[in-house]
Amino acid sequence: MQCQEINSLVMKYFDGNISELEREMIIKHNDKCKRCAEEFLVLKGAIDTLEEFPEVEVPFGFKIRVMEGILNRRAYSANPKIVAFWLISIFGLIVFGWNMTANIIVPYIRDSGIMIAAYNVLIYGFNVVSGILRDIVVVVSMLLGKILIMRNVLLRDYITYVTLIVLAFMAINMFLLYRRKLQEN
Ligand SMILES: [Zn+2]
Repeated sequence: MQCQEINSLVMKYFDGNISELEREMIIKHNDKCKRCAEEFLVLKGAIDTLEEFPEVEVPFGFKIRVMEGILNRRAYSANPKIVAFWLISIFGLIVFGWNMTANIIVPYIRDSGIMIAAYNVLIYGFNVVSGILRDIVVVVSMLLGKILIMRNVLLRDYITYVTLIVLAFMAINMFLLYRRKLQEN
């Protein structure tokens, strides 16, 4: 059984709309697949936490949005725009990580010049902080993405934010590299 299929079963599980056989399929898969098992536990923890919150009356506009989300759900999952956003986000993270490694971490280790040491410390600090932020962006996007899909809240807005965050990081990264190059010349 593929992780993708288990994924949709897990969504049914959290919707409370699952058969005994399907439940067993999830358990069986999670015994073999560490990734799915971990994802399941994280989701379960998040949803248990959500369910502990007291029910509040949501604004009327929100209800409309949720209903729209439900009606558009099928269209969303096949929307090439959403897929493109995700691909751009993932591609951005890969480029960002590669940039950091090739242009900052490796030169930092190689360089021993006192003149640029101070600036290297700044870049190194930024690198550490942005690494943590990047992890948060990835983990939160996975988690929120799952929850929002299941709760039928519009995913498009959220993905746009993720993409903007990644682009902002890339811009700052480029700026630092540019400044560093000026300093070296
Ligand atoms: Zn799996």
